[in-house]
Amino acid sequence: MTRVFRSDYREKKGRDYPDPYPVECIKRVDRPTTRVNEDEVPRLDEREGGFNRTGRGDFGSQMQAEYKRFVPKHPLSGALVSIAGVLADVVDAPDGTKQVKVARNIIPQASSWSPMKPISAKKAPNTDDPEKMARHIKEVAYFLRADLIGICELPPYVVYSHRRPDGMPTELDHKYAIGILIDQDYRTSEATTGHDWISNSMSFLSYSTSGFIACVLADYIRRLGYPARAHHALNYQVAVPPILLWAGLGEMCRIGDIVLNPFLGPRFKAAVVTTDLPLTIDKPIDFGLQDFCNKCGKCARECPSGALTEGDKVMYNGYEKWPVDVEKCTRMRVGNKHGAGCGTCIKVCPWNKPYTPFHRTINWCIRNMPFARRIGIWADDLFGYGKPNKKNKWWLDLELVDDEFIVPRNND
Ligand code: SF4
Ligand code: SF4
Repeated sequence: MTRVFRSDYREKKGRDYPDPYPVECIKRVDRPTTRVNEDEVPRLDEREGGFNRTGRGDFGSQMQAEYKRFVPKHPLSGALVSIAGVLADVVDAPDGTKQVKVARNIIPQASSWSPMKPISAKKAPNTDDPEKMARHIKEVAYFLRADLIGICELPPYVVYSHRRPDGMPTELDHKYAIGILIDQDYRTSEATTGHDWISNSMSFLSYSTSGFIACVLADYIRRLGYPARAHHALNYQVAVPPILLWAGLGEMCRIGDIVLNPFLGPRFKAAVVTTDLPLTIDKPIDFGLQDFCNKCGKCARECPSGALTEGDKVMYNGYEKWPVDVEKCTRMRVGNKHGAGCGTCIKVCPWNKPYTPFHRTINWCIRNMPFARRIGIWADDLFGYGKPNKKNKWWLDLELVDDEFIVPRNND
């Protein structure tokens, strides 16, 4: 069995970029490749997201009941979401020291370590050069094992109008947003059908890891003397996809609201840090994805719920995007009776590939030679990409039902 390691392009001789992938080879543009009519983008209410609507019963009482167990029904995704839950309380400087209390319970001397400090009264020396600090923050995030980082100005319209679950109004006026991507693991992605018992674990591996990095990074920036807040799966104040778009971490793709990265494809989850630390920003990117998705449509073809379209993009809430049926997708992910969650669209996408010399060459051709795209799409099916490689399967098929383990049938 071949183990596919993460890229570390930083070691390439003569290269002076902190990123582990050659981001400098991707074309930069002034605006995203899909239209964003900023004047028409409303601030969204976080309570109107698909999962929150499921939890409050908009899709029926059966789905509402499933919502409580659809992640912890597998022990690995249960463990991962628990850690993300702990991180939900440590996104910002302490207000009533709830965060400090968490650590005191675990480590007696933590009251003096005070893990969640307020913003330092004095700014650290040599932290006012935006270019140096952007480079430094990327180095810190990669040291913490981020897979890709991008920085943009925080668009005011991405801040949620109200937070879940209590509906309190949200205010956030930080100047910058740092996007943090974590790979969901190619080897596991190769083995899964996309909607079996590992699907939620792949999501929450990336949610909890990116959340950990975001919380540490935000705390570090506050200790340098600047405001900063982490945003991750269990405690967001911002909509993430537009931030990734403006920070040059990908283009909008056919999978609804998902941004696709040229090196990881759609196989990642993201967290964000917002801050006033002076930073130079990255520009959006163009690697030909709009043309590729127009010609491809594999995610829509393979989606088990029919939530994605093989048709054209539309304008929605000020964004040009392919429409997604949120209810169908949420019902599949929450109500999946033969697995835990769903990421079939991510698994089958032709951009979901390992970073090997062969796939890097194909990736270059597809990015730079429009005529190669149809050939790439045709070859992807011909060589069987998108089908599960059972030889690489490593996880246990288990379902927790009323505190009893069940070994599901028909999973091989
Ligand atoms: S997560 Fe599953 S149901 Fe949702 S769009 Fe992707 S393939 Fe379809
Ligand atoms: S599967 Fe094809 S159409 Fe769907 S996001 Fe990937 S490249 Fe685009």
